[in-house]
Amino acid sequence: MSYHDDNFGEWQDMHEEGMVEFYHQVQRESVEKVCKQCGETVRLRRQYVICNDCADMNEGSRPQW
Ligand SMILES: [Zn+2]
Repeated sequence: MSYHDDNFGEWQDMHEEGMVEFYHQVQRESVEKVCKQCGETVRLRRQYVICNDCADMNEGSRPQW
């Protein structure tokens, strides 16, 4: 099973304790949104306004618009 979402992209270190749980928690917290940067419809946590691809392009910085 691979772990991937629009909040963080590819999840690493899933063997670490609590990581799978955290992943599912993030999924539960995520809602459908339009990314403020690229305009794609994505599933994001409420406090995020841009997707992981855009955050990567910004070198990890996420604006809080
Ligand atoms: Zn985006």
